[in-house]
Amino acid sequence: MFNPASPQPDGLLQRLEHGPVICAEGYLFEFERRGYVQAGAFVPEVVLEHPDLVAGLHQDFVRAGSDVVQAFTYYAHREKLRLLGKEHLLEQMNRNALAIARDVARKTHTLLAGDICNTNVFTGPESVDTVRAMFEEQVAWAVQEGADFIVGETFAFAAEAIVATEVIRAAGLPAVITLAVHRHPVTRDGYTPAEACKALEQAGADVVGLNCIRGPKTMLPLIGEIRRSVDCHVAALPVPYRTHDHEPSFQSLTDPTLPDGRAFPTALDPFTCNRYEIADFTRDALQLGVRYFGLCCGAGPHHIRAMAEALDRIPEASRFSPDMSKHAYFGTDALLKDENRAYAREL
Ligand SMILES: [Zn+2]
Repeated sequence: MFNPASPQPDGLLQRLEHGPVICAEGYLFEFERRGYVQAGAFVPEVVLEHPDLVAGLHQDFVRAGSDVVQAFTYYAHREKLRLLGKEHLLEQMNRNALAIARDVARKTHTLLAGDICNTNVFTGPESVDTVRAMFEEQVAWAVQEGADFIVGETFAFAAEAIVATEVIRAAGLPAVITLAVHRHPVTRDGYTPAEACKALEQAGADVVGLNCIRGPKTMLPLIGEIRRSVDCHVAALPVPYRTHDHEPSFQSLTDPTLPDGRAFPTALDPFTCNRYEIADFTRDALQLGVRYFGLCCGAGPHHIRAMAEALDRIPEASRFSPDMSKHAYFGTDALLKDENRAYAREL
C-alpha cells in the first residue's frame, strides 16, 4: 500500500503551470518487440510475469526525460481479460502495474499516473453503465495505490471519454484525457477533435488532447484546432511513425512488400520516425501551445530524450547523446588517424 508519509513532488497541475510535462508511453509495443506481450490481444501480462523488466523500462523512460511514470494498465481491463479467459487476474494485474510504477516514481521524484483506456465495448448510451463500472474499478485501484493523477486515453468516442472524465473527477484526481483520431478527422460519434475536447474540458478534464494512432505529421494540424477551442492544457502524444495525408493513421500505413499490405502492428519498423523528426515535432507542438508531451506505441527512450532536449532539458541520458567528434572515420578529433578520415567518403 502507498505510504502517504513519503515526501511528495509538485502535482501535475503545478508542474504544468511552470512549464511542459513529458509523459512517456509505448510499453505495449516495446514489450511486444522484446517478446513479453502478444500482438493482437495486447494485454500487459508482463506486469505479473516480469515486474523487474517493467520497472526497468519505466526507469529508462525517466532517465530519458519523462516527468511521469504511467502505470502499465493499458488494456488491463475487464473486457480484455474476459476475452482471454483471464478475468481472475484483473485486480492483481492492475495493482502490480501501479505498484511497479509507483516505486519508480517515488524513487525518481516523478509523478505516478494511473491509466484507463478505450473499453472496446462502448457503442452508445446503452453501454454507458458497463463502461462506467469498468472505469470505476480501475480508478479505485489507482487511487488506493497512490496515483497522483489519471490518464484516460485512446478514446475514439467522445462520449466514452466523457464517462472516463466523470469517473476520474469523482475520484478527486486530475484528469488527462486524450482521444484517438483514426483515418477520418472526427470521433466515432461524429465530433471534430476540437469540439470533443471542448466537451471534455466542460466535463472537468484538466488536460485534453490526442494520443496514439496518428504520427507527428497528421496529428499536429488537429492539435492546433484543439488549442484554439479550449482554455485548459493541451496534450499531444503521437505514435513515432511517418503517417501522411493519404495514410494518416498507423493502422492505414501500407507496405507493398507485405502479404496483406498492412504494416500495423508488426511491420511498422521502416516507417519509424527518427529522433530528429521527434525533436521537430516537439518544437512545433510547443509553438502551437502544447503543454503535456509524450509519445505512444512504438516509442523508445531515444525518442523521449530527443523530446526532452527539444524542450531545452538535459535528462540523465543526455550524458550519452551523440557526439561524433571521436568517431574513427567521421570524427574531428586531432588524435584520429587522417588515413581513416580520408577514407570516410568510401564508407
Ligand atoms: Zn498507442
